[in-house]
Amino acid sequence: MGAAVKTKNVYYLPSGRIFVVELPEGDLIECTEMRDVSMHGKSHREVREASDPRVVWKHLVPYEDKWLLTVSTQIGCPHQCQFCDVPKVNFVRNLSENEILSQVRLLLHATPYVERCNKAKIGFARMGEPAHNLKNVLWAMRSLPAVADECHRDIKWLPCFNSILPAKTLEGKSGMDVLGEVIDAKEVFFDGFMHFQVSCNSTNEDTRRKLFGGASVVPIEDVIKFVNSKKITMRTVTLNFILMDGVEVDAEKLSKMGMTGEKFMVKLIALNRTNRSDEFGIKASANYSNYDEFEKYEAAFKKVGVPVCYDAVARCEEAGLCCGQLAYIDQI
Ligand code: SF4
Repeated sequence: MGAAVKTKNVYYLPSGRIFVVELPEGDLIECTEMRDVSMHGKSHREVREASDPRVVWKHLVPYEDKWLLTVSTQIGCPHQCQFCDVPKVNFVRNLSENEILSQVRLLLHATPYVERCNKAKIGFARMGEPAHNLKNVLWAMRSLPAVADECHRDIKWLPCFNSILPAKTLEGKSGMDVLGEVIDAKEVFFDGFMHFQVSCNSTNEDTRRKLFGGASVVPIEDVIKFVNSKKITMRTVTLNFILMDGVEVDAEKLSKMGMTGEKFMVKLIALNRTNRSDEFGIKASANYSNYDEFEKYEAAFKKVGVPVCYDAVARCEEAGLCCGQLAYIDQI
């Protein structure tokens, strides 16, 4: 199947590239390919405080071991999250399964030197909220091995479904239905090898709603209760928190709701400064400049027995990292 998309612009970051892609009717979407950055001990500080990309290059993980890709699932997004720049791009529609896979093909054609990869983690949340386009997103995930074969690559995919879990989707599904279908797909079709991440960002539901631009989403307590009632294998469900100044992230509260390390892990994320986060006065409470803050949150989650991971961006990677920023620039 021919690609229904073409590259309009490519932006380079020290660890990869962001592609602004044009659809036949002229709308712009984004997809990305990045390498992971390995940071341990002393190199951790060296990388996160680096302004020189050559420092990041020294610590790039080989493509064969890990590769990080993202694709868009909608043109724009119907939500208005305060920390995200996708709402700057007008919401138009859901992408078809082929339009989603065309981005995967485009990324593979742009990287002929990546012949094999043991863990290609591909996120379906560059631009767009995948819950609104569930059928096409799950089918696109299932078609990834065929696309790799077609491009003569030896790739072991790890699809990643990252969602704010809207209470009602554009297709009329409830957020709980989406939760159930994604977990079923994870366990039945992918034998547990799917990464399911729920964007939480705060443990206070009123604050969450405000950060999500007023969107009604599935409460975290309901997510925890539902996941606890299901069999979860291989990859636990990840609760994501972008750490923002003055925003409650309370490990004890989640533990009382039933969160355990058996079914869950927590991912702490540094806020990438965006146009909209500036407009709403949202500031990072932990990033490359005050890394100790990550460790304080990590300690609180470890105390309740829940593993934590965090990607600390390097100072020189921040610009342009947030979804939608570059498509917005290219459209004006
Ligand atoms: S964070 Fe996700 S759901 Fe929110 S506006 Fe951005 S793309 Fe949409």
